[in-house]
Amino acid sequence: MLESQIPGADLLSRHKRVMPDWMALYYREPLELVAGDGRHVVAGDGRTYLDFFGGLLATMVGHNVQEIVEAVRAQAGKLLHSSTLYLIRQQVDLAEKIAKHSRIDDARVFFVNSGSEAVETALLLTTAAAKSNQVLALRGSYHGRTFGTVATTGIRAWSATSLSPLQVSYVHSGYRYRSPFGHLPDDGFTEACVDELRTIIETTTSGRVACMIAEPIQGAGGFASPPPGFFQRTKAVLDEYNIPLVSDEVQSGWGRTGRAFFNMHAHGVTPDVITFAKGLANGLAIGGVVARPELMHAIEANSISTAGGNPIAMAAANATIDYILDHDLQSNAAARGDQLLAGLRKLAEKYPAIGDVRGEGLMIGVELVVPGTKTPDAACTLRVLERARELGLLIGRGGLLGNVLRVTPPMTVTSDECSTALEILDQTLAQTPE
Ligand code: PMP
Repeated sequence: MLESQIPGADLLSRHKRVMPDWMALYYREPLELVAGDGRHVVAGDGRTYLDFFGGLLATMVGHNVQEIVEAVRAQAGKLLHSSTLYLIRQQVDLAEKIAKHSRIDDARVFFVNSGSEAVETALLLTTAAAKSNQVLALRGSYHGRTFGTVATTGIRAWSATSLSPLQVSYVHSGYRYRSPFGHLPDDGFTEACVDELRTIIETTTSGRVACMIAEPIQGAGGFASPPPGFFQRTKAVLDEYNIPLVSDEVQSGWGRTGRAFFNMHAHGVTPDVITFAKGLANGLAIGGVVARPELMHAIEANSISTAGGNPIAMAAANATIDYILDHDLQSNAAARGDQLLAGLRKLAEKYPAIGDVRGEGLMIGVELVVPGTKTPDAACTLRVLERARELGLLIGRGGLLGNVLRVTPPMTVTSDECSTALEILDQTLAQTPE
């Protein structure tokens, strides 16, 4: 087909002329999504797709959820913006809910507009408190696109610059499939990683470390998470050295993992700071930090985010959180996650291209390799993405080496929709040409 005959070709060429080259688009023939309902989206090509990527995990409870649409509509009809110089009722309502669920004593909450800004804030607070720019991060992490957050991002493909305001030491993560300790049993793996953590603190830092930042389940890193006990043992070492733990829950918050409202709690650990964004307002721009008061108050100057806490995002977020809690979507995430994991593990027995299936709740990674080896197969991963789209299913891609399928539908996903997705993935893997 000539490029000009592709639906949306005109929009694509205009896009290419005016948008940055590094802002990637999915698919050989990129899609414009124009409408959505539940877990389905309608594209500019007129086709309907089952959405198992939810706008990079931000469409938390599905499209066109009336309770959220109405909350936004009602607020938009009253006031779009006031700024945090004035009291904002919805901001306080939301902060109270988040503070309670954070389990942090006397927690304080600050709202911003994205995950990067949330992490940036956590880095600002903890470095100010410690009067140190030294930070620990996990290998394979993703914490954002801004100057400071890129420095804590342990994936080369997302590391836009090495120039950094921080000095970062990378410690072992829970990504076992390619870990030098991956062959060890759970306890041995954790001990090896924790020993390394201690060594890295002792040998690569001055001893005054501002924080350790960790995703309890790595998102862009391909949905890898450590065994039980890992974060408890990690936190015990951090406490010995007086290093606060920042849990980056930008992807894993709100019960998506089916295990806890904030996923670090599922590991029996209450972090000192939690960063959040993405799904909180079901897709509207939002982010924030909840922290122990002495960390939140560590900066001595004024600080403000003009649109942070804005009434529209707050209305959407309150409606989204209420919807998740009222419908016990965490339980649904657990049940549907089990269904998907079981189905994908069956496919792994059938298709040797599947090297690893892992995940928690509705954050599931399928790592693709050259059959019979552990060699990552990013090209095959792209073909699977394309083929799944042809068959009507949208999923994501990630992983350190670009060879992980990310299966992560909205938390309202039904059993039938999971079965459909599994059938499509089965057909996709059966037909994906070499
Ligand atoms: N932290 C994590 C764990 C993320 O997954 C992301 C986004 N992928 C970010 C931070 C940055 O969020 P944003 O893109 O909203 O700036």
